[in-house]
Amino acid sequence: MPVIHVLSPHVADLIAAGEVVERPASAVKELLENAVDAGARTVVLELRAGGRDYIRVTDDGVGMAPEDAGVCFLRHATSKLSDERGLEAIGTLGFRGEALAAISAVSRIDLLTKAEDSPGVSLHLDAGQITQEAPAGCPEGTTILVRDLFYNTPARMKFMKSDQAEASAVFLAVQQQALAHPEIAFRFLKDGAEQLSTAGSGDRMAAIYTVFGREIANNMIEVKGSWEQFTVRGFVTKPTCTRGNRSYQYFFVNSRFIKSRMLSAALEEAYKNQLMVGRFPVCVLEIDLPVQAVDVNVHPAKTEVKFLSERGAFDAVHYAVLSA
Ligand code: ADP
Ligand code: MG
Repeated sequence: MPVIHVLSPHVADLIAAGEVVERPASAVKELLENAVDAGARTVVLELRAGGRDYIRVTDDGVGMAPEDAGVCFLRHATSKLSDERGLEAIGTLGFRGEALAAISAVSRIDLLTKAEDSPGVSLHLDAGQITQEAPAGCPEGTTILVRDLFYNTPARMKFMKSDQAEASAVFLAVQQQALAHPEIAFRFLKDGAEQLSTAGSGDRMAAIYTVFGREIANNMIEVKGSWEQFTVRGFVTKPTCTRGNRSYQYFFVNSRFIKSRMLSAALEEAYKNQLMVGRFPVCVLEIDLPVQAVDVNVHPAKTEVKFLSERGAFDAVHYAVLSA
């Protein structure tokens, strides 16, 4: 008797979902990224009970035609990548075609979407299976409502923290997108109350002001520099305005929020001898480089990147901040 068999697509989805959607905030991150990739100018996120009951994202992006709307929940279904060559030059936030498959596998979803020149459509899914599909009258764009996250994965449900803690993590995910995309108006409502609303004017300082508040915004200086193929733009705080940890350090690589010890080190190196021990500068820095010079396909959550030239990235940030 053979003992090895290939898992069913549904079980494979549940396993993969564990990597992509760890908690409500990771689902929110993916949904916001999809709205950004769809060219939205306005994105509204509504959350209830820390995201466990209800996560709704509405955008005014390009939307989907009815025939795409049914396909977008399949694993490895994407409009952003078509062949292996595309993997070397990713210019969108998404590309793995995994997020909607993963989220839908562990929740109930209502999708309402309409693209230019095609009729609107509404879909309902339970655990990744489409159970209803109907024509719908709606404006161009997409609304996706995720309910009962992890209802069919009790093991994951057990690891959910308090609604308050989950909502705070969601708030961070919204702040990251708002700072990365000052040209998009983001609005975040938690249990009916507005938590954040950015203007979407394209002015990064205005976004910083809204997200961090006046004290930090008024103590920032502009950073502008280029080094080899890197361009570094944004704001850092003066050495007199610091924080007790690094959670206020935001780095974006080609508009993607990333976590990087190396870039934090480059930033802090520029402040050498001007910071007290245990104090850290605040920054919002956008690092742009040709898409071929950075690999974003490092981890399913896409929050890490590999630079072709790590040294170059370090120097670019270090010198740009130093000259500011
Ligand atoms: P990826 O973003 O990696 O392509 P996703 O599973 O997140 O994978 O989405 C699958 C596809 O569904 C996307 O490639 C896109 O074509 C479509 N899609 C998802 N969300 C939206 C949206 N908000 N507006 C328009 N199209 C969307
Ligand atoms: Mg995506």
